[in-house]
Amino acid sequence: MDHFELRDGELYAENVPLSVIAEQVGTPVYVYSRATLTRHAQVFREALSALDSVRLAFAVKSNPNLAVLKLLAKEGYGADVVSAGEMHRALAAGMPGADIVFSGVGKTAREMREALDAGLGQFNLESEEEGAELAAIAAAQGKVATATLRVNPDVDARTHAKISTGKSDNKFGVAYDRAAEIYARLSALPGLNMRGLAVHIGSQITDLDPSRLAFGKMGELMRGIRGQGLSVTHMDLGGGLGVPYKVGDVLPGPAEYGKMVAETTRGWDATIMFEPGRVITGNSGVLLTQVIRVKAGAANPFVVVDAAMNDLARPAMYDAWHDFASVRPSGERMIANIVGPICESSDTFAMGRDIDAVAAGDLAVFRTAGAYGATMANTYNSRALVPEVMVDGDKWAVVAQRIEPATILAAERVPEWLA
Ligand SMILES: *Cc1c(COP(=O)(O)O)cnc(C)c1O
Repeated sequence: MDHFELRDGELYAENVPLSVIAEQVGTPVYVYSRATLTRHAQVFREALSALDSVRLAFAVKSNPNLAVLKLLAKEGYGADVVSAGEMHRALAAGMPGADIVFSGVGKTAREMREALDAGLGQFNLESEEEGAELAAIAAAQGKVATATLRVNPDVDARTHAKISTGKSDNKFGVAYDRAAEIYARLSALPGLNMRGLAVHIGSQITDLDPSRLAFGKMGELMRGIRGQGLSVTHMDLGGGLGVPYKVGDVLPGPAEYGKMVAETTRGWDATIMFEPGRVITGNSGVLLTQVIRVKAGAANPFVVVDAAMNDLARPAMYDAWHDFASVRPSGERMIANIVGPICESSDTFAMGRDIDAVAAGDLAVFRTAGAYGATMANTYNSRALVPEVMVDGDKWAVVAQRIEPATILAAERVPEWLA
């Protein structure tokens, strides 16, 4: 459910016609709906209300925009960050350091120091080596770092290979069979307060069975570790719940996920932590674009839009589907390929797709672009960095300005010896 709907034949974001945003900000531009973001944040929380003790850490990497983080901070969310850069965003949005979790397989010593300085709440350790390094850094500062150990449960999340993270040959976490001994050794280090386990098996998960299996294995591991006399008070179950990208997609929602978690974690006697990203932000945003022209093709015409793979990378990277819709649909349909202007064949959003008929100058949207959209944008082909807008009822604001190619060029230098 979102708040991008047709009114009198024109697509609106809440109470704002998308054509108004296109006219004033230009295209391409991401448009987020505050009402949708808030609703998703609340629905996810409510779905977990059967659990005794819950902590929510929004996965910043899915949409790190400062206004989005501010809104989620107001909804009581902390943050799951994977770099110092993301941590500073979460802090800038007003999230307390204590509510921030630091994940990621390559935390540098410098990032660890910055995080300790910020009073970060929890490090999710990805290896014994990383734990030893963090312990030493913390001890040298006279501090104790709170941490969990990320475990690779060797479970296939049955999602796209590039967003699967919980199989034994993925780079994430420590091997399940070695986790208990590593946990014990890390627990003995001064400078570390080991308080639990973490797991995250992948993204865009559309089948709950792999998660059920992984969480069950984590419960067993937790009991084994407690049996050694060690403390486990926090269990971080990661993120990964999928969202519908196509009209008619049926997949488990937050309520079913919450029910599965409640069943799987019954009797755990631990604080259960979650790191949702896409399920909060995915359907909360669209990428608004203008058709440059329609070019004849061999089998189907090419609809060339002014958005490209540098603005929305998911189709090129993950073969992802984004519904395409005209902002003022005529009711006519066409079969077309939708492509961007970048000089790569992978700059293709759809092939042979049945879409609203569009012509040069028309506005259109790619839906479900609020997660892993703007955050992956780059300036390939010396294009601008795409701007972002947030709508709230009748109000709207630019929440990230377009960064023009001239600004990027201004940061470059020709060395004297080349001048
Ligand atoms: C990416 C990621 C998430 C969020 O995944 P979603 O599919 O967006 O919910 C959560 N935790 C970790 C460790 C991640 O890497």
